[in-house]
Amino acid sequence: MLDGKVAVITGASRGIGRAVAMKLASLGAVVVINYNGSKERAEEVKREIEAGGGSADIYQCDVSDYGKCETFIQDVIREHGHIDILVNNAGVTRDGLLMKMSEEAFDQVISTNLKGAFNTIRFASRQMLKQRSGRIINMSSVVGVTGNAGQANYAASKAGVIGLTKAAARELASRGVTVNAIAPGFIETDMTSVLSEKVREATAVQIPLGTFGKPEQVAAAAAFLASEDAGYITGQVLHVDGGMAM
Ligand code: NAP
Repeated sequence: MLDGKVAVITGASRGIGRAVAMKLASLGAVVVINYNGSKERAEEVKREIEAGGGSADIYQCDVSDYGKCETFIQDVIREHGHIDILVNNAGVTRDGLLMKMSEEAFDQVISTNLKGAFNTIRFASRQMLKQRSGRIINMSSVVGVTGNAGQANYAASKAGVIGLTKAAARELASRGVTVNAIAPGFIETDMTSVLSEKVREATAVQIPLGTFGKPEQVAAAAAFLASEDAGYITGQVLHVDGGMAM
């Protein structure tokens, strides 16, 4: 289904990004696994994809660094010839109450989650416009829609990702490039494994479907948005959250 397509996935060494990489590779895409610090885990993802008959490459790049993103995306284009799918998944949390939040904690989350998506779109979209085709998928969050106490930086970054998605969708639509966001709810990854049992129980009560989601369930939504079948969908936010935000 995605045979011959080149798919760049940021933050693909773990969690949701890893599941997206595995899924797109299983559909035939050549997958570019980006990571920041988890080199061994990124290599493990590559090995698993290749063991399943797929094709993958690894690129280290801190997505919050504008200059490094330019080099990263240019390297991918030079080595693979094109970029068909870009999944901006890299993300971090630095939770704390607003009144106690350091400037550095605010800046780090915005730089990675929001500016990181801008950085890669800035350079990959030029190539997609030339190709007159492309799929950009940005990972937002339910928290970007509803807000969450203790996550002012994260909620702002994820709401920003939705605005970025819609602006980019309008700018790129005339050349066949779609831009959509996915807003996951609470998904079982390293990011949520730090939550206490008490918080997990309180959260589960707010999920109509009753449980945390799996990275593979988010990856299935990304695969759909990356597919030919989603060609008439742009500027949308697809909620994968067990019904939390409806
Ligand atoms: P995770 O398990 O903590 O993995 C985060 C990934 O992002 C890792 O691969 C990490 O790479 C990468 N990353 C972090 N900072 C980076 C940087 N500066 N440059 C490049 N890569 C960077 O997180 P996750 O739960 O899979 O979340 C993935 C995305 O979904 C995030 O955007 C998150 O905000 C969003 N999301 C998650 C949930 C959830 O419940 N889990 C819910 C809603 C939205 P390294 O390890 O190599 O540094």
